[in-house]
Amino acid sequence: MGLLTTGRPLGWWDAQPHLDYVREHGIEQFVNVFCATRDRQGDVLKWGDEIEYTLLVLNESERCTYLSLRAPQVIQELQSEERLVSRNSLADVQEHVTGESELSEFDSAPVPETLWRPEYANWMVEGTPGVPYSCYMRDLVLVEQNMALRRAQIRRVLRPNERLLSLTAYPLLGCGRFCEPAGDGVCGPLARSLYLPDAVINPHPRFGTLTRNIRLRRGEPVAIHVPLYRDKSTPSEIPLWEGGSRHGGVVDIDLHQIVDEKLAKTSLSQDNTDQDVGSVRIDEAVQRQRLAWSLSQASGDTELVLVPIEAPSVDGPERPVALDAQHDGLGYLCEKAGLASWNERNRDGRHTSPDIYMDAMGFGMGLCCLQITLQAANMDEGRYLYDQLAVLAPVMLALTAATPALRGFLTDTDVRWSIISASVDDRTALERALGCPPKSRYSSIDCFISNRPEMKAALYNDIPVLVDARAYRRLREAGVDEHLARHVAHLFIRDPLVIFDDFATVDDRVSLTHFENIQSTNWNTVRFKPPSQTGPNTSAGWRTEFRSMELQITDFENAAFTVFMVLLSRCILAFGMNLYIPISKHDENLVTAHQRDAVRQGKFWFRKHIFSREAELSCSVRCHYRCACGSEHCVSFQSLNAGSPAGSQSSPSQSCPFRFCTDPDPEAMELMTIDEIMNGKPCCEKHAFRKAYPGLLTLVRVYLDAIPGLDRATRMRLGAYLDFVAARSSGRLLTCAAWMREFILKHPSYRHDSKVTPEACYDLIQRCIELSEGRCGEPALLGDFWPEHHIDGELTSHDFSKLRNQIHEEDSPQLRGESFREELLPAAASRILETVSISARTHAGVAEHHHDQHARHRGCDYHQAHGVDERQRRHHRGAGALGRFQEARHQADQHL
Ligand code: ADP
Ligand code: MG
Ligand code: MG
Repeated sequence: MGLLTTGRPLGWWDAQPHLDYVREHGIEQFVNVFCATRDRQGDVLKWGDEIEYTLLVLNESERCTYLSLRAPQVIQELQSEERLVSRNSLADVQEHVTGESELSEFDSAPVPETLWRPEYANWMVEGTPGVPYSCYMRDLVLVEQNMALRRAQIRRVLRPNERLLSLTAYPLLGCGRFCEPAGDGVCGPLARSLYLPDAVINPHPRFGTLTRNIRLRRGEPVAIHVPLYRDKSTPSEIPLWEGGSRHGGVVDIDLHQIVDEKLAKTSLSQDNTDQDVGSVRIDEAVQRQRLAWSLSQASGDTELVLVPIEAPSVDGPERPVALDAQHDGLGYLCEKAGLASWNERNRDGRHTSPDIYMDAMGFGMGLCCLQITLQAANMDEGRYLYDQLAVLAPVMLALTAATPALRGFLTDTDVRWSIISASVDDRTALERALGCPPKSRYSSIDCFISNRPEMKAALYNDIPVLVDARAYRRLREAGVDEHLARHVAHLFIRDPLVIFDDFATVDDRVSLTHFENIQSTNWNTVRFKPPSQTGPNTSAGWRTEFRSMELQITDFENAAFTVFMVLLSRCILAFGMNLYIPISKHDENLVTAHQRDAVRQGKFWFRKHIFSREAELSCSVRCHYRCACGSEHCVSFQSLNAGSPAGSQSSPSQSCPFRFCTDPDPEAMELMTIDEIMNGKPCCEKHAFRKAYPGLLTLVRVYLDAIPGLDRATRMRLGAYLDFVAARSSGRLLTCAAWMREFILKHPSYRHDSKVTPEACYDLIQRCIELSEGRCGEPALLGDFWPEHHIDGELTSHDFSKLRNQIHEEDSPQLRGESFREELLPAAASRILETVSISARTHAGVAEHHHDQHARHRGCDYHQAHGVDERQRRHHRGAGALGRFQEARHQADQHL
């Protein structure tokens, strides 16, 4: 979770006088780093993934599972390697490893091959590669190896009854006693949750303070409502307290604690003078007026909405509630949660809710994900990638869906995003009522930031963007351009949630602490990270982080999605792709991504024409192809007339698949399935090329094939990752969410009431453990890619270092970006054309939409398009992906 600082965090009310200080200095810090690095050029590609692992306790005799709260101790042990090398500067070691330094004294210095960091919950362990991967093709094959190493390292420090999983959501979180140790009761002073004891929160002061301050700023506990999956015996309302708990019954609430809070608050208002409390209280009428003003600006034609956040926007301290016999703690919390009036209900645990209700940050921030950070050559490239990747975030969220059950019930959604969003929504009741700010701090992005003139990003920024007026003015004064100033000032509409008592000692010339305070609590689908000037990662340049993907069960799956995203990022640069859609459509896509089975059922706004004008102009290839109609067409890739009608046999130049479109042309985008977005949309009937769209996976394959000198073993391994992603995209393989849901629905203990039974959870967790350890396969989820591909579970750091060094010593082509464009485009044009036209034949001729068949045909089109000869094709088809994988693995294993 980004920033972790030492020191003592200030309580929410103590922090109030300093909120503006942090904002002001955060902006100064950004300005300083911007001025120092705006022209920084030529950073090489470095990149890395982050995985949040879940620790579990398995009780085999009772056949039940608990979340293990031992992550802090486990992390301590895991960090021993890192501590060992910290005698040498980690930064120097990193530079050495990535070839940017000639420091020979580090020749024999050990490098930590993994890094471990605490995360929000005490069952979570965040693991990343020890040093970022570098810019070579072969680095891509290190990903899965490093993930296997991380798994092996955690396993070595676990107790015999403990297990680890890469699991997005534990289905029984918050159900009765769900963790080990049990914690000391719910309704603790931090989260005040009915379900989660504070003992689940990582002891680093940042996490508890975040939890408490979000609740206090909001004025009540967070409220998460997730649609319930309805089965034939699902009641219209489900009990609030019992939700799938193996222990059932009423939650044991410590009323004394609630009373304590009341007393604490009373004493707080007594301790502080009226003036103190008054200074943080904004008159409600003033606030309403101010927000109303900014909303009216939003509906006018001003693109920029200025919200003068000059005083902390809080409603004041949580109002003490009289806790007496009629109005006890449970009722108080229910009322705060807006669930029901306590007085109208009885108190024997029969409170119900029509959806799955959750009330704590841990329900959201306890969900685990897969993130990828990519270093850009310069600021401009980072901003361009930020925009393009943002568009892909909802698509990849749906494709990696892994959240089918929460708090003991099956959900009617498949992904985690909106749950986390609600779990950290610190907006006051008034702010939420007015929709200002319209979104939680955890949300999709609100504006694109690229400044590339040909991309016309501003055209797509079609929703009002609130900015902190002072921050915006200061940024513009300091020479930050409008797009970036707006982005940063938008982040700064939020309050800093955790301020440490040494906040005033920070040197703005070298530190980004205050900037990061705000940035790291704006949890968006993508994040733009400025170069760091101090700390262990001083060499880092401008970076873009992709944050929407859910976590998969096996290393193979997580590596496949990571590798796909890294390769796609290179394609975006190399082809100069334009994926822009309006922000409002992107937001619609995020909603669609939540739908159950969105991969197969959902339709997402996506561009039909994704190549930049530059790509179009730099390419002049004539190409003949045989169409679905049986005749031969000639197509030129030199567009003369972008925007003209669809191509035909006699007007080749008008049918260019590189057709460019950045203008807000209603024709520019359409609703596509994920299968179409990823695997392509063929040339339609009447062979109109305007309807053809090659698919992101096709482009990645074309890119790989165009890389000169890529060795066969690497190409095969990468090919298998892409084949796997293609199979998930086509629906041939189930998403994690769909597979888990099916597992629960088919479990003998299931009563068609949407409840996840403890037995089903135990068996599911067992199955996931077996899968992750490569002890079994699951064809519906993993096809024949697994478990054959499983990497040695006993990998050591030493093995990994050897592999990495070997790979870097050998010649390996680079993961090229923009510099590859001139070579790539001519090679790509005919390939793309072949692919879209051949898949047209597949569609017209075979006319089957069964996913399995569909994918198989795509497979053979691919071979045709890529000139794979008949013998090879027979081999591939016969042996299947598995055979290709075995071969790739065999060759790659020779590196070990
Ligand atoms: P955060 O949690 O703020 O996203 P972390 O430090 O936990 O940041 O993770 C950063 C990720 O970025 C890791 O995967 C790491 O390998 C990778 N990384 C580290 N340095 C660089 C760099 N210079 N360029 C790109 N990625 C990097
Ligand atoms: Mg991290
Ligand atoms: Mg991260």
